Amino acid sequence: MKLFGLTDTGLVRQNNQDSYAIRQPDESLGIVVVCDGMGGARAGNVASAVGVEAFSSALEESCRQGLPPDPERKQELLKSAVRTANGQIYELAEENPEYFGMGTTLVAALILSNEAYIANVGDSRCYHWSEGMLHQISQDHSVVQALVERGEITPEQARTHPRKNLITRALGTAIGTQIDVFRIDYRAGDKLLLCSDGLTNVVTDDVVSRELALNIAPEDTARALLTLAIEQGAPDNVTVVVAQL
Ligand code: CA
Repeated sequence: MKLFGLTDTGLVRQNNQDSYAIRQPDESLGIVVVCDGMGGARAGNVASAVGVEAFSSALEESCRQGLPPDPERKQELLKSAVRTANGQIYELAEENPEYFGMGTTLVAALILSNEAYIANVGDSRCYHWSEGMLHQISQDHSVVQALVERGEITPEQARTHPRKNLITRALGTAIGTQIDVFRIDYRAGDKLLLCSDGLTNVVTDDVVSRELALNIAPEDTARALLTLAIEQGAPDNVTVVVAQL
């Protein structure tokens, strides 16, 4: 299993409020997570940094204790790790006035030898590339996604919609949070991409698919995707994590 991530401020923003973490407790087990923070100049950084650290530490600890065999209980472990991250961010925001209202998205994957579990809150995304096809696994929790689902705008219009930054779920803004969890089969040669909206707002799924199809190392794929975002002006922070079995 090869895992690689990078994050970049982009060409417009003054600071980077995205964070990512990669943990590999053993050869056949990977934990990857991307958070896109919000809430003031410094607070967004704090929310995303605490989010990736709290989530990956909690899930790594569960892995060390031994993963349960059944999928439902593995999904519950992911949700539990997300709740831990939510609670830590929420408490920090409650205790520190300068962090009031901060929050973050979270998209994460627990990658095993032939399956992966994905957790998602907000509009950072997980894609699965398998047998020549790109599948978006996570569904955005955003205002524009709701408009797309109601047929009021097209996915293409969503990409440039003035309200595209408004998310309907976040971590750290309330005591509880609703979490989506998915399970996918994962074959040799498949790839997973986790990314913030700084990538997907400027690079289309077709282009992402073309890059993932190339038989190159995850590090090169991640750098190529960042370069494409930069070429489009990178108006937002860009974070990309690529996993290859
Ligand atoms: Ca963003």
